[in-house]
Amino acid sequence: MSKLMYRCPRTGVNVDIWLADEVTPVNADTYEHVMCPACAHIHFINKTTGKALGDKGK
Ligand SMILES: [Zn+2]
Repeated sequence: MSKLMYRCPRTGVNVDIWLADEVTPVNADTYEHVMCPACAHIHFINKTTGKALGDKGK
């Protein structure tokens, strides 16, 4: 398990989630789909940067 922190693009809330997979150099620059506890929608989050796919924020 590895922890991932990201900002929910819908609510702007910072969220911590646990991933089932370890982030390794092989899969580090990939997007993980997560069920967001803040808005109950699914986001695609970059495992390295914590940036949400389609996030218009900085
Ligand atoms: Zn969300």
